[in-house]
Amino acid sequence: MAKRLGENFWGDFFRLCVAVPRAMKVTLINLFRRPVTVHYPDKTRNYPDRYRGLLALTYDKETGEENCIGCRLCEYICPPQVIKVEMLKAEKRNFAKVFTLELYACEFCELCVQVCPTDAIIMMKSFDMSTADRRELLLDKDRLHQIGLQFEPSWATGNLLRDMQTPPKAPKAEAAEPAARPAAAGPAPKAGGAAE
Ligand code: SF4
Ligand code: SF4
Repeated sequence: MAKRLGENFWGDFFRLCVAVPRAMKVTLINLFRRPVTVHYPDKTRNYPDRYRGLLALTYDKETGEENCIGCRLCEYICPPQVIKVEMLKAEKRNFAKVFTLELYACEFCELCVQVCPTDAIIMMKSFDMSTADRRELLLDKDRLHQIGLQFEPSWATGNLLRDMQTPPKAPKAEAAEPAARPAAAGPAPKAGGAAE
């Protein structure tokens, strides 16, 4: 028994002597490597082209009016129900009287963007809104419009995404017209009687 304990001790000691220098070698190699992290927020990386992050509301570029018509489609589709909209009816068009979005509970699923008929709600190429105060992530209409002006918009809008997802239509003209009658078949039979 005593002999077996002694054997284990020297075996363990030998393995320790091999493992420690091996681990220290990895540490030493990484000590002189260039870091793979960046000192955010002092330094930031470029976002990929198709990045979609923060949500925002948009204005019409020509008229300067709010694009949101208060239709509430985004509110109905949102899985965690973080959007609340109240419509304001006006003479020419409708607006959103109230628009709030609880960003802290958003899943970033993009469904609200996909259903918006006027491209009023979009995603931005940024996630740059980290905060320790949860209340700052309850976004009202003004804040959502401000985010829309502050950051670069992503490429995807509701109308673009719907265009991409719509299957191509079958060519109508060819399907509706009957095949041309070959000349060798002679004249077409008269309607309601046998061919002469
Ligand atoms: S991205 Fe998804 S979860 Fe977030 S507000 Fe839009 S629909 Fe709701
Ligand atoms: S953001 Fe779009 S979907 Fe939502 S209420 Fe406004 S117009 Fe309707």
